[in-house]
Amino acid sequence: MKETVLLFVACAVLTHAADSQTVPKLKLLDGHEIPAFALGTWLGNNTKPAGHEVEDAVSWAIDAGYRHIDTAFAYRIEDQVGRAVAKKVTEGVRREDLFITTKLWNENHARDQVVPALRESLKNLNLSYVDLYLIHWPVGQFSNRTFDYTDYVETWRGMIEAKQLGLARSIGVSNFNQRQIDRLLEQGLQAPAVLQVEINLNLQQPSLLSYCKEKGIVLMGYTPFGSLFPSKARADAPPPRVDDPKLLDIANKYNKTVPQITLRYLVELGIIPIPKSLTKTRIEQNIAVFDFSLAQDERDLLRSYDKGYRTIPQLKWLDHPYYPFEKPE
Ligand code: NDP
Repeated sequence: MKETVLLFVACAVLTHAADSQTVPKLKLLDGHEIPAFALGTWLGNNTKPAGHEVEDAVSWAIDAGYRHIDTAFAYRIEDQVGRAVAKKVTEGVRREDLFITTKLWNENHARDQVVPALRESLKNLNLSYVDLYLIHWPVGQFSNRTFDYTDYVETWRGMIEAKQLGLARSIGVSNFNQRQIDRLLEQGLQAPAVLQVEINLNLQQPSLLSYCKEKGIVLMGYTPFGSLFPSKARADAPPPRVDDPKLLDIANKYNKTVPQITLRYLVELGIIPIPKSLTKTRIEQNIAVFDFSLAQDERDLLRSYDKGYRTIPQLKWLDHPYYPFEKPE
């Protein structure tokens, strides 16, 4: 009897330990659920895809417990994501347990181009549907990079058609500001289920976050490390860096790393972080943030780094009427 009780206690602890590492899901306003942590797959503007680096990263990520992969037509690696997903599905992962997000590029903003563009992404991904399709930017452009002034409200109507056809389970927007989302809602159109924008310690976007909470829109945070790594920080980037003594103290307290502390902070704000890595150990490390919680004074310190500093201002689109961000003085 005593042994049975002990065995029961041990099993309960083990179950709890496994549960505490499981990524929770958030409810979307269209009824679907979205895993609250995603792998990023953008290689950067100056890196050409080499062949299977993203395929490897996505495979490692799925092995490590990621179920949500963020990609885009513009990243030119949808085919690699598709190969990794196909491989994992052959190995027994269920397609319906994976959540694949991709994005409509700026060159396909005309309403009747949205569905064909999504079909092209689906072909690249070798999938019959994506879980989430986002308008990548509110700004349209032609292939020669001149501006296309198509109203993003028209693009949104095309997104709704893609959802109605079952090609995307959920639809949302990326890099839209509050006013631009309000404009979609004022047309009486369905609300975006997700907004994806830059969020990191230097750009925490508290008012956009509370707006989204009020409207039931889930926020995904891209470039979650911001300027944390000296190799990525511009000269004018505010602190902190990864070797910041106060952040190291917090990391040591929980036996975690500074990147993990920043990801945990975003998770606790209710934001879905999208860390990108091609490195197996970092991919595994980044998702291991569901077994501890930050204290209030630690959250206060992390909040104090918010300086409204943007790492991806996309100034080349500054003169487009739908440029979404605050303009430099
Ligand atoms: P991130 O903030 O994710 O930083 C990525 C960099 O951090 C890489 O150099 C990576 O190196 C490094 N890194 C990752 N984990 C660690 C770690 N634990 N320790 C040390 N270094 C680490 O930047 P991204 O700009 O890539 O943003 C993430 C994702 O968000 C993108 O990949 C994309 O999916 C999405 N995104 C969306 C945008 C949009 O317009 N909607 C715009 C920008 C990004 P390495 O790979 O060598 O391991």
